[in-house]
Amino acid sequence: MKLEILGSYGGNANFYKLTSFLIDDFLALDAGCLTTALNLDRQYQVTDIVISHSHMDHTGSLPYLIDNQFGLTESPLRIWSSPFVLDALRQHIFNDVIWPDFTKLPNESQPCMTLEPMSPLETIHIRHLRITPIPVNHIVPCCAFLVESTLSGAAILYTADTTNTDQIWEIANQKENLKGVIVDCSFPNNMTDLAIASGHMTPQLLAKDLKKLKRPCKIMIYHLKPSFDGKMTQELDDLGLELDYDIQGKVFEFTST
Ligand SMILES: [Zn+2]
Ligand SMILES: [Zn+2]
Repeated sequence: MKLEILGSYGGNANFYKLTSFLIDDFLALDAGCLTTALNLDRQYQVTDIVISHSHMDHTGSLPYLIDNQFGLTESPLRIWSSPFVLDALRQHIFNDVIWPDFTKLPNESQPCMTLEPMSPLETIHIRHLRITPIPVNHIVPCCAFLVESTLSGAAILYTADTTNTDQIWEIANQKENLKGVIVDCSFPNNMTDLAIASGHMTPQLLAKDLKKLKRPCKIMIYHLKPSFDGKMTQELDDLGLELDYDIQGKVFEFTST
């Protein structure tokens, strides 16, 4: 399973791209920066996007991606998420005011984009990937995703935006082939109250949750706020754990062995 970190931040500035991960070139987890991170040819290869929640830092590049793909791809772009998120996209983005409703273009019977509902803990199959949404603890309904490849046998977990939570770790501990975890860490330790109120982690909150993970695997940190980057990376180093927070632009290959 090839995991490409297109954008790994919870804020936007010149170097800092918003959250998007690409798996095996065709499936994106969240859509913060798909159009700024990928050239046009690679954008045409994206056939499926799984969205964790409705916040703009995870959905903001959808309008531009479908606009670039329009008329140039063979099958419709499929956007997968909970009914809550799909309704939000319909009402607040693809509403013919902020952006055209591409689920009706070029016509309703053969649209260039479809909205595909997912239910918590129900696994969907897209080509050789199995994706299971697991609810987490954010300020709007939000799901983590467990992604398993039937080709490589490897599994990864993307927590999406969350503060301390339990179910994802219980499920992760049952997965023998779990090789990587991408986990939220958004604010420095002196902003713990804000982190909890907004459904995010600080380095100390993160350390608490990582104790629940009983499997050895690569830990990748995402969603650092650019304004606190230096302070937070120091605090993450101080935890003395093996964490990779410098992941944007990197490509990881996960196998079951
Ligand atoms: Zn976010
Ligand atoms: Zn969020």
